[in-house]
Amino acid sequence: MSGIYVHIPFCRQACYYCNFHFATSLHFKDEMVAALVCEIEYQKDYLASENVETIYFGGGTPSLCTKEELSRMMEKIRECYIITPGAEISLEVNPDDITEEKLLDWKDLGINRLSIGIQSFFNEDLEWMNRAHSEQQAIDNLQLARKHFDNISIDLIYGTPSLTNEKWKHNVDTAISMNIPHLSCYALTVEPRTPLYKMIRTGRSPDINPEKQSGQFLLLMEWLGNAGYEHYEISNFSQPGRRSRHNSSYWQGKKYLGIGPSAHSFNGISRQWNIANNAMYTASIGKAVIPFEKEELTAVQKLNEFIMVSLRTIEGLDLDKLEEDRLNKLLTSSRKFTDTGLMKLEGHSLVLTKEGKLLADGITATLFF
Ligand code: SF4
Repeated sequence: MSGIYVHIPFCRQACYYCNFHFATSLHFKDEMVAALVCEIEYQKDYLASENVETIYFGGGTPSLCTKEELSRMMEKIRECYIITPGAEISLEVNPDDITEEKLLDWKDLGINRLSIGIQSFFNEDLEWMNRAHSEQQAIDNLQLARKHFDNISIDLIYGTPSLTNEKWKHNVDTAISMNIPHLSCYALTVEPRTPLYKMIRTGRSPDINPEKQSGQFLLLMEWLGNAGYEHYEISNFSQPGRRSRHNSSYWQGKKYLGIGPSAHSFNGISRQWNIANNAMYTASIGKAVIPFEKEELTAVQKLNEFIMVSLRTIEGLDLDKLEEDRLNKLLTSSRKFTDTGLMKLEGHSLVLTKEGKLLADGITATLFF
């Protein structure tokens, strides 16, 4: 079983914190969609005839595509790959793109899951982030989407300078009260080469407060736990049976094919990533050449990736999957975390506790071979 990711590299405007690959000019959208359709075909052997159980249109902003554009990509995927009946087909959507007509179009195309970039239900935060939608659009269009789709995820961001704990509670409570089945909640990070990075460096925005972020993450775990959500991955919470199957496949080490500029692929042996430049991508695809770089993974790299991704999940790190000498070394290096309550043994798995999740990156780096 495997998954396909299609990267739509266009956005209406640049959110200040974002370091994904996208362009804000839509002038070359036609050429891009034509190139994506070609790459879907050129890559048809990448998954070695494995059935595809998830398809994910991400970006960028896939909801900027017309029905006809999405349909061309979906048709080519169906033509070139074996899609499992009941496959999860997700579309990332920005609230300002949602209309009744578009929702019906998306359903008609077979899309059965929406991932909506809400981020906050407060204008003050949305403006600070330079999001293209307002708090009213977030509420109204989320309600509209709920009428047509039962499988919905929303993204929320915490740890922004203007987000008090009271506002954070309001954002999470709003999602709970609307019975949103899946939430992806991210701590704001300041990435180099983003407008936010420059704003902080030049004093036009306060810097991130790590203590406040940690506090808001602990509150989030408490509120969503009380509301019956399963904290199945560091940043992801779901009602029973509503985990993201596509993202779960990344954490389970399954194969995936990434289509489009900057998209990554993994076939179990090597990892590759397409060039993150729209003009160079379309020009290269026009010559029937996929512009990518590739890295063969060593046994140690695969093991470290396994440690990194599995510790992010509720199932944790399955110790039965380690050879004896590796296991002994890992048990020794993890002892300082189990002794201090940052990790615990559950059956044959090592899992992060709530406090450990606050330090997940640092802990996993310490356990690497
Ligand atoms: S809409 Fe999404 S991809 Fe586009 S700039 Fe904003 S956060 Fe980044």
